Amino acid sequence: MELNKKSTLPILEEGLQDFGIVLEEKQKEQFLKFYQLLTEWNTFMNLTAITEFDEVCIKHFLDSAALCKVIALSAAKEQTLIDVGTGAGFPAIPLKIIFPNLKVTMLDALNKRVKFLNEVIAVLELHNIEAIHGRAEDYAKPDLLRERFDICVSRAVAHLSTLSEYCLPYVKRKGFFVSYKSEKASEELQAAKQAIELLGGKVFKQQELILPHSDIYRNFIVIQKQKATPKRYPRKAGLPSKEPL
Ligand code: SAM
Repeated sequence: MELNKKSTLPILEEGLQDFGIVLEEKQKEQFLKFYQLLTEWNTFMNLTAITEFDEVCIKHFLDSAALCKVIALSAAKEQTLIDVGTGAGFPAIPLKIIFPNLKVTMLDALNKRVKFLNEVIAVLELHNIEAIHGRAEDYAKPDLLRERFDICVSRAVAHLSTLSEYCLPYVKRKGFFVSYKSEKASEELQAAKQAIELLGGKVFKQQELILPHSDIYRNFIVIQKQKATPKRYPRKAGLPSKEPL
């Protein structure tokens, strides 16, 4: 597919400028290649319901990038980030394109999506990024990825109490777990407060913003890890969603 760069890229570029980000030519090309791969692979596997370019720019790319309005992402310092239930790479891939110094791990339970992500990594020539096939509950073991990350992010994966059990074990002490939520964020937060505390987290802030070029609200819940997550969490695969804390 040929993309008309002139008519399409401004949505992304202008939106990112609202976030204080100016893309270099290489990064623009990476976004275009990512879009191309996403729509090509989407014809034979289920990756996204959103395929129109401007809509992808707003609802996937700008939405993913909005994290930088909520926590400090440094272009200079190497930070480690895990995206739990990354699917087609959201928010991880846009964040990696914009902040190449991030050391990124993408985790997903569906191997087909992990294969897609490995193709994206290769075609976009991304470094310091890996895609892992596995469940969140299984990779949080001490000999695997427990407490290895400065930042854990997750979008559209589970309710906050379940998600906190998936995500908080991966975060280092003083690091952050950031959940991309919708308008029901306050309700979810209320229901998850006890679980968050039990898992060693503390609510740092809740922040709402409107995505550029849209009237779409994004709600972020930012949780800071205060104490080590007790060893018994996460419970065995399936339990965090079947019996939320
Ligand atoms: N984060 C992406 C996004 O916002 O577009 C994907 C969202 S998709 C609705 C949910 C993804 O989470 C799926 O790809 C699914 O395989 C993955 N997932 C759900 N439960 C999981 C678990 N326990 N461990 C790892 N991945 C999980």
